Amino acid sequence: MSDVEEALDTTGPSGESKPADSPIEIYRHSSAHLLAAAVTELFPEAQCGIGPPTDDGFFYDFLVGRPFTPEDLTAIEKKMAHIVKQNRPIEKKFIPKAEALDLFAKKGQTLKCQLITEKAGEQVQCYTMGDFIDFCLGPHLPSTKEIKAFKLKPEPAAAYWKGKEGNPSMQRIYGYAFFTREELDQHLHNLEEAKRRDHRRLGRELDLFSIADETGAGLILWHPKGGFIRKQIEDYWRDQHLKGEYDLVYSPHIANIKLWNTSGHTEYYKANMYSPIDIEGVEYQLKPMNCPFHITIYRSHLRSYRELPFRFAELGTVYRFERSGVLHGLMRVRGFTQDDAHIFCRMDQLEAEIVRVLDFVTDMLKAFGFERYDIYLSTRPEKASGTDEGWELATAALRKALESRGRAYTVDPGEGTFYGPKIDIKIKDSLERSWQCSTIQVDFHNPMRFELEYIGEDGKAHQPVMVHRALLGSLERFFGVLIEHYAGAFPLWLAPTQAVVIPVSEAQHEAAGRVAARLREAGIRVRLDDRSEKMGYKIREAQLQKVPYMFVVGKVEAADPTGNLVSVRHRAAGDLGSSIPLPEWIDKITRLTVQRATSEGEVPAAQPATQPGGVS
Ligand SMILES: [Zn+2]
Ligand SMILES: [Zn+2]
Repeated sequence: MSDVEEALDTTGPSGESKPADSPIEIYRHSSAHLLAAAVTELFPEAQCGIGPPTDDGFFYDFLVGRPFTPEDLTAIEKKMAHIVKQNRPIEKKFIPKAEALDLFAKKGQTLKCQLITEKAGEQVQCYTMGDFIDFCLGPHLPSTKEIKAFKLKPEPAAAYWKGKEGNPSMQRIYGYAFFTREELDQHLHNLEEAKRRDHRRLGRELDLFSIADETGAGLILWHPKGGFIRKQIEDYWRDQHLKGEYDLVYSPHIANIKLWNTSGHTEYYKANMYSPIDIEGVEYQLKPMNCPFHITIYRSHLRSYRELPFRFAELGTVYRFERSGVLHGLMRVRGFTQDDAHIFCRMDQLEAEIVRVLDFVTDMLKAFGFERYDIYLSTRPEKASGTDEGWELATAALRKALESRGRAYTVDPGEGTFYGPKIDIKIKDSLERSWQCSTIQVDFHNPMRFELEYIGEDGKAHQPVMVHRALLGSLERFFGVLIEHYAGAFPLWLAPTQAVVIPVSEAQHEAAGRVAARLREAGIRVRLDDRSEKMGYKIREAQLQKVPYMFVVGKVEAADPTGNLVSVRHRAAGDLGSSIPLPEWIDKITRLTVQRATSEGEVPAAQPATQPGGVS
């Protein structure tokens, strides 16, 4: 449902059942009314549309003769502050329909009359704020003085009335609203920071990946540095899966359409799939999921209860249709690699397997620096396959697993997949943003459709249950999240280049070369910058490339007979001193890499900027 539809829903006739708003939603909704009150007082001809709360504030749509200017918005914000100061009560009123229509018509609020006609009952519920009145289900704060911290977005947006193209185009003013000034300031800071960290921008600046017109929208080209990070992620992922008693499998990118008919994808998932490919008169489908392949592997043998569970894992690349309008960098793409696995187990093993996956998720995400999550349990959607009993069993297993691990979760009604309920884990990044990554889905549907079996203790055939799971989600999206989480300053174990060696001048090129060779020998990913550029320029460049360490070799360091001395800079901490023995740093970098430390926390705190390198 779009936010517009949702908002229209909440302006239904009084008495219509509707979920209770949370305190912050009520606060933001009242802030939207505050905005509308200010606008209608400053621009009496403005017609109000709808004004719901959003995730970080509110918006309100207005039909006006000309677009709002930045000066208008400043004036509106001032007016809002004034109304807050006046401490106007926000009062609920019931008005007979005919009277309400008359009242809103007199105020020139034609759009509101339209909403009242469509949605209101005999008694129209309204809220007032001084002279301002709105047709609204509420609830609201008792008075404007409760609104403590808000800010309007500098640019209004355009929106169609009721979200329908062809309807009048309205001016949508967005605002941020928080309980306190501190929270608002933090949020505004985070938004600025998010812009600075945008993975599309950093992807270009750090030369990590690209999307080219020649290859097509939503299709990612991993450049060498991004490719290296992906290799690190994949290596770790494979190692952990082998340790976790998974088997690694591989499957093709296309399959006979019959496979997708059996799985139900052509029936339930068609909108997300590309057109079939004709091969010698047989239709083949580009895969939107890996599941049917792993199922086919399971089916390749007669399985016994003693062998279960099977855990088949694959970094499987899938292709799904996304409208060009919604594609977004690495976050929303048309081809991506899932860190997928399918577990085939007995019913009595299901809960333990889910708990195992939950623990695995926690460990895996921790290695990348994510330790805070929101967990959602998604239940049966309207369009679903399978029996009620199967859905109940599956949902209960997920619920019990979460509870046995003491995990708090929110139920997301109707958001399960067509084949089963699921747990979604949204990680919180360094800017408090949530990203959907991990998912655990229980499935009775596919084992039934594919007639999966194992021979039980009783010698008879039984149906196993399937768990679909991804820990990182997709490598593309996860990489996007990683880039923004670290602002491109990747931890040592992921950094494509861990250190740059920089000679102060030509005279130290040889000595610097020896330092680089020693680092390389120790297994550190090092680059020698012996271009004939100024030292300061090279340091700045290494800094912009977010290389963790810079080793500078000057006259004193080069003159040391052991060839062991360097000046050290860290990308965040700056100058760490000169004439320091190299082996110390080799040990440290090696140790932090092996530990997959997510920060080089032990380096001394940033010092005030001195001469680059602090070299003698
Ligand atoms: Zn309202
Ligand atoms: Zn699957």
